[in-house]
Amino acid sequence: MDIHEYQAKEILAGFGVAVPPGALAYSPEQAAYRARELGGDRWIVKAQVHAGGRGKAGGVKLCNNDQEIVDACEGMFGQRLVTHQTGPEGKGIYRVYVEGAVPFEREIYLGFVLDRSSQRVMIVASSEGGMEIEEISAEKPDSIVRSSVEPAVGLREFQAREIAFALKIPPALTQQMVRTLMGCYRAFRDLDATMVEVNPLVITSDNRILALDAKMTFDGNALFRHQQISELRDKSQEDPRESRAADRGLNYIGLTGNIGCIVNGAGLAMATMDTIKLAGGEPANFLDIGGGATPERVAKAFRLVMSDKNVEAVLVNIFAGINRCDWVAEGVVQALTANPVDVPVVVRLAGTNVEAGLKILNESGLPIIAATSLMDAAEKAVAAWRGENGGDKVHYIKAGAN
Ligand code: ADP
Ligand code: MG
Repeated sequence: MDIHEYQAKEILAGFGVAVPPGALAYSPEQAAYRARELGGDRWIVKAQVHAGGRGKAGGVKLCNNDQEIVDACEGMFGQRLVTHQTGPEGKGIYRVYVEGAVPFEREIYLGFVLDRSSQRVMIVASSEGGMEIEEISAEKPDSIVRSSVEPAVGLREFQAREIAFALKIPPALTQQMVRTLMGCYRAFRDLDATMVEVNPLVITSDNRILALDAKMTFDGNALFRHQQISELRDKSQEDPRESRAADRGLNYIGLTGNIGCIVNGAGLAMATMDTIKLAGGEPANFLDIGGGATPERVAKAFRLVMSDKNVEAVLVNIFAGINRCDWVAEGVVQALTANPVDVPVVVRLAGTNVEAGLKILNESGLPIIAATSLMDAAEKAVAAWRGENGGDKVHYIKAGAN
């Protein structure tokens, strides 16, 4: 789960990371008012969206007076900010954060991520802050410092000092840098984050270390033990299809194609999407309904997939290991009888009791297109989507079709 910059800054500040004073606003007038409250004579108005790259996309504006703040906000509120991280549809701006503009000498990149290969928290830092980490690794790979944290002891001060030296932090600021690194690490660990990114972390003109931007992502599976973090969720920043799925315990990622996918297991779901592409189609989604694949879950999955108006065919691909194909087939038949869909449905079953499963599908009277292999299923789904399985695309399954 992602949170906003201002929320991440508040959390990190609680762990001893220095951040500039700032205030949240829900309207242009409120932003101007909050800026006056903050004091100073130059402010940065920052669109709060769950994406980086706001600066280059016009979502971060330097303002010198009330009028500039109001103008900057009017260009933001109600708009969708498109950055290189949002996709073409962008993210809606409903809140802005106003901060005092901080003069600085240097920008540093600081990131904490989970490194799956070493199964440790990896600290990634660079003296070339301000740019995105992808750009840094393409253009200035030598500037990147990596350091992984031994989980049994956590981040130690000597290790934080080594990072500070590698980044050529002036000696007088080493202790502040150590506090920043330790604070980010503790926030990461204590709150079950999967990512903490401060970009830029700056050395100000008056020699302080300040986090000017902050991004945190949390492990959704651990939110149950962090009530206060889960309350920071902002559905306005999520794909509505994905929010609906997450609320129903399904693992769904919306895509832009036309072939809806209902699959058990994330790996099989990935393989299904690849095979659809190989067969000349475009998947409308990634959907892992999990191991159970009960009739209720299959029915939920159909409702979710069909709520995407771009879906013109559905491919159900279930591999039954612990599960049984006959149960899954019954689930599909029940789901489609109770909630008929008006697009072709291709079902491929494999594994335990596959013959019994296919028999149930064939005898259901529903116009389900059965497939044997994954390739066969993808080809049939693409053909059905193109209307090649017997003409009209939208007559396959209707209420009372059996
Ligand atoms: P994003 O990463 O989404 O583009 P940032 O918060 O990093 O957004 O802001 C973009 C740039 O704006 C920063 O790299 C920094 O140079 C500048 N900036 C951001 N906040 C401040 C601030 N409070 N004072 C001065 N400059 C800032
Ligand atoms: Mg940034």
